[in-house]
Amino acid sequence: MNDCPSAWDPVPVLDPRRALRVVPPAADVDLVEAERAAARFMQALGLDLRTTGLERTPQRVARAYAELFSAREFELTTFPNDEGYDELVLARRIPVRSVCEHHLLPVVGVAHVGYLPGNRVLGLSKLARVVEHFACRPQVQERMTVQIADYLADQLEPKGVGVVIEAEHSCMTLRGAQARGADTVTSAVRGVLRDDARSRQEFFALTDRAGGH
Ligand code: ZN
Repeated sequence: MNDCPSAWDPVPVLDPRRALRVVPPAADVDLVEAERAAARFMQALGLDLRTTGLERTPQRVARAYAELFSAREFELTTFPNDEGYDELVLARRIPVRSVCEHHLLPVVGVAHVGYLPGNRVLGLSKLARVVEHFACRPQVQERMTVQIADYLADQLEPKGVGVVIEAEHSCMTLRGAQARGADTVTSAVRGVLRDDARSRQEFFALTDRAGGH
């Protein structure tokens, strides 16, 4: 046997599809302890856990929060931009469900995520998975917006990235100032969407319309 390939050896075909497995950091969840703590928390607030309605609530609270803090693993699959597509790709109104890190109360809204492709493009559903990845943890909306934009800028190396999040913070709408119906809008733009006024305008015009303002 010699190591030289013969003329009959097949030419290796490189898989043009590139997938990055995104594994959320494993949360150290102790549901039993969380349930006990939820019971103590409720009792400290003067709630009577012996009533039939509240009896199993500590268990439900513990499970609900464990779910809110666990993102699903996914593959960030990218493909070569063979068509040379150089216009904005925009996914609008991606549902956002998070929890604010100050009160652990729900934050609910939508994200508009767009990019100007470079050499690679992304399966559209993956934009929603990236949003979910950063939303499934106690968050601050501004940070979440920047994290999504930076992550896509790093992994996809597009010409530009833009992220707009519109969300209602229940810590704001249900208590304190009780600003019912108020939503908070944050944005982060990178690359051409930051540096070129026309691209930036186009991006924000498209996201504004999506928001129904
Ligand atoms: Zn809050």
